[in-house]
Amino acid sequence: MSVLNQKTIKKSVKFEGIGLHSGKEVEMTLHPAQPNTGVIFKRTDLRNNNTICSSVFNVSNASYCTKLTNESGVTVSTVEHLMAALCGLGIDNLLVELNSEELPIMDGSAKNFVDIIEDIGFNVSDQPIRIIKINKKVSYLDGEKFITFEPNKITLEIDFEIKYKQNSILNQRNKKNIYMDELRDIYNSRTFCLFEDVEKLKKMGLAQGGSLDNAIVLKGNEILNDEKLRNSNEFVNHKILDCLGDIYLAGYRMVGKITSSQGGHNVTNQGLRELLSNNENFSIIELKEKNIPHSFLIKNPLKSSA
Ligand SMILES: [Zn+2]
Repeated sequence: MSVLNQKTIKKSVKFEGIGLHSGKEVEMTLHPAQPNTGVIFKRTDLRNNNTICSSVFNVSNASYCTKLTNESGVTVSTVEHLMAALCGLGIDNLLVELNSEELPIMDGSAKNFVDIIEDIGFNVSDQPIRIIKINKKVSYLDGEKFITFEPNKITLEIDFEIKYKQNSILNQRNKKNIYMDELRDIYNSRTFCLFEDVEKLKKMGLAQGGSLDNAIVLKGNEILNDEKLRNSNEFVNHKILDCLGDIYLAGYRMVGKITSSQGGHNVTNQGLRELLSNNENFSIIELKEKNIPHSFLIKNPLKSSA
């Protein structure tokens, strides 16, 4: 069976935790899904109109997390870390059931999702993968923040930079080749915030479930968590994780080069909308092994995990 065929997970698996912003306890179960389903969220705490497709056009808020809303106004929040895990692991089809409005934050990274999905394994279908290939350079700018999508031959590269006037240890840049590099440092990197922003977020009704168990908190140059950094680029690596999850809302994995400076959920979402708003900017192609260089298939993690 082709290693480039669509995948789902082998069996259902449950996660329990707390929503970062809602502060609500949540049970989330991932179920295998048929080819060409994509990733679908289902709110089991609601009876009607409770499915929400993982589409960039369903993003209704991307200020502090990525929130999706369906045509009936039903929402699901903080989808980005799970989406990043699914994109990196090559899961094309999945039903995500949850009994609350927000996914569990776990430890603030995608580590638990990746570890458990890798543990239970994958089912490979007989349907080929589709990918989005970028044909034209597209940029989105918001003041000093920007994201650029450019063509790339065969892989997805994300080059991300963060700059903080308030805290220079947060100034970091890293680049990852998503289909060829080891992504462990990306998956393991936790979300972060400045100590002085914690009260502000809580007053806004956000971060109600936030704690040192699920976010790195910085006071000046000091990390308040007992667990110090998991890798030397953890801050920017988390931004790469967010970016990967947010662009998977395009519906398929992508081939291209993404460069972003000081961006985040909103910049990524606006840039992706811009990219997908014109058919000349991209093509959706079915991946056939005969079209892919041998060297890529050898290194491709899609192959090793199939
Ligand atoms: Zn994040």
